[in-house]
Amino acid sequence: MADKAKPTDFDWNDLGFAYHDLPYRYRAYYKDGKWSDGGLETDSYMRVSEAAQSFHYGQEIFEGAKAYRRKDGGVNLFRPNMNAQRMNRSADRLLMPHFPEDKFIDAMKQVVKANQEFVPPYGTGATLYLRPFFFGTTPMVGVHAASDYTFEIFATPVGAYYKGGLAPTAYVTGSLDRAAHAGTGRAKAAGNYASSLLPGDEAHKAGFSDVVYLDPRLHENIEELGSANFFGITKDGKFQTPKSPSILPSITKYSLLALAPEFGLIPEETTISINDIDRFAEVGAMGTAAVISPVGSITHQGKKHVFYSETKVGPYTQKLYDRLTGIQFGDEPAPEGWIYDVPLK
Ligand SMILES: *Cc1c(COP(=O)(O)O)cnc(C)c1O
Repeated sequence: MADKAKPTDFDWNDLGFAYHDLPYRYRAYYKDGKWSDGGLETDSYMRVSEAAQSFHYGQEIFEGAKAYRRKDGGVNLFRPNMNAQRMNRSADRLLMPHFPEDKFIDAMKQVVKANQEFVPPYGTGATLYLRPFFFGTTPMVGVHAASDYTFEIFATPVGAYYKGGLAPTAYVTGSLDRAAHAGTGRAKAAGNYASSLLPGDEAHKAGFSDVVYLDPRLHENIEELGSANFFGITKDGKFQTPKSPSILPSITKYSLLALAPEFGLIPEETTISINDIDRFAEVGAMGTAAVISPVGSITHQGKKHVFYSETKVGPYTQKLYDRLTGIQFGDEPAPEGWIYDVPLK
């Protein structure tokens, strides 16, 4: 078994997006209709039956969040209540029990506090990534929901996505879907990621950063950009993002919809046809990992549509990025209830 990571192992200015085995993770166990108290554990390996439900029939959902080091040395969580609520909506879709929201937030704080030496310093742009996940462990071969589950949160330090400032990337439409219209696209289910690997690989091999998913019924309307949500800023000042039952509801998206009016943009969730994208002055991808990635172009049916610039970030995209990261790192005032301080003592 590999050694545990130590804070001295890391160059905080040069971190990628990788797993490291930190000293502590939180686990709770669901059995006989109720959750165990839950607590911190040190072993990164788990002992699970070979017939565990999630290995065969895929009851596995997850979340992604970050802990942010502030200038004053404290640590922030960004809207962890939204992660807790979304995980329970994902659980409903996969016929899994709920994990209580207050227990979820407390568990996030415990993991950050216990691994606090691994929250990267303020100013590096790096963060402590938190990965809550939740899966069925009951041994079975018949297809039904598990009666036993494990909930865990582990942490791993990750670097700023864009080290030299925001840089636009190129996307391409594909012919494969990540989720069905009334399927599990709204749930943060591991299985959606399994079905996204091949389309993502095809886009990478063709020289693009990722694929644009179109709606699974008509292949006409934009859904997601790889594993991130889509936004476009129209030439007449609207911040638009697609509305569809098969999109994963991004917390970054709802946060930017709320912040857009500060910059004079009108926020709107609406249908966005792939045939009508030249009305966008700027396009971007949104999610916790990359925050905002400017999209320089989308290639559809062999035709490349360029937004703002293929090499430079657009002004609204940069302003929204600065505002959101300013809130997350505690440099700017946040809307009520968005920031949770993590007690470190
Ligand atoms: C997690 C995820 C996102 C981004 O959601 P955030 O809450 O902003 O991190 C977008 N699309 C998919 C498919 C996802 O799984």
